[in-house]
Amino acid sequence: MEGISEFRRGGPDDPLVQEIMKQKGLSEVPFYRQDSPKAEKFDLHACMQRWMAWTPQRDGSVNTDQPEGRDPIHLANLIRDKGLELGAGDIGFAELTPVMINVGSSFELKNIVSIVVSEEYSKVLEGALAVEIEAFEVYVECARISTQLAAYVRDLGFAAVADHNGTGDIQAVPALCASGMGELGRHGSVIHPDFGASFRPGFVITDAPVQLNQSNIFGVQKTCETCRLCESNCPPAAIQLASDFIVTEGIKRWQVDIPRCYEASRFRDEYCHICVDVCPYQHKANGDPSRMTIFKSFMKKRKIAGYRTPSWFIEDEAEVLG
Ligand code: SF4
Ligand code: SF4
Repeated sequence: MEGISEFRRGGPDDPLVQEIMKQKGLSEVPFYRQDSPKAEKFDLHACMQRWMAWTPQRDGSVNTDQPEGRDPIHLANLIRDKGLELGAGDIGFAELTPVMINVGSSFELKNIVSIVVSEEYSKVLEGALAVEIEAFEVYVECARISTQLAAYVRDLGFAAVADHNGTGDIQAVPALCASGMGELGRHGSVIHPDFGASFRPGFVITDAPVQLNQSNIFGVQKTCETCRLCESNCPPAAIQLASDFIVTEGIKRWQVDIPRCYEASRFRDEYCHICVDVCPYQHKANGDPSRMTIFKSFMKKRKIAGYRTPSWFIEDEAEVLG
């Protein structure tokens, strides 16, 4: 099956990032600079190498000696339990379709396992650097868990290939939505009922004939018609109006203005995760009182700083917030 989805990698080699860098006359992309004050505290390039290190193990030989049976519910339960044991926050299953695969990639396997690894929401109270470190460390976890889960599925007797940031064959949004992992929000990220959009995904593409999930509709897209929190907190106003969407495969898609987003998320040293962190689905569907408390504290800080103010380093908090 050939992939049909155009893919934007978003890293330092992304053609759009490179083009903006040239327009600005820069020799390096600020977010990825190796000589910034941030780089003294967190080596994100070393972190990226850690997820890349999992890539050679993404595929391997299939156990043909004692293959597991083919009961779909039993197989799904085995794989879900193993994924949770490895550290995933949630696991879902869907039929693999061409829209889930990036242009230039192809798979002859029929199903996909979506792996959700949650980020620690309380990091928002420690500032942008803490949020960045958490996100990048969770990407490493996604690579580890998807790789180890693919090996487990091969041991059950079925072909299985891991996908994560170090491989980049899978289009996360359609795969996550079809696997019942949540709904697409106006900020362009999938919202999970327990974790909001504070998670990172990994995937296993497999021939295992697992029981598939239904999509999980719990009111997000309806809420996005009237909620304006991500829109009014996005520093460069990259998030579109509620009325500005297209519909594909029954899902509303609001197109984030990527060049504008990059102004805050690539052309500053600091990380930008604000649209995810101000979304009420951090607590709205799960009703978790501790997440609600964190959300309220964070929104209070944003109000003092000015809603569109980019994130601040915790070291500067007194200066920014008074
Ligand atoms: S990451 Fe930041 S700049 Fe980009 S859409 Fe979200 S809030 Fe806006
Ligand atoms: S902040 Fe509001 S508008 Fe934005 S994704 Fe979340 S619910 Fe939707």
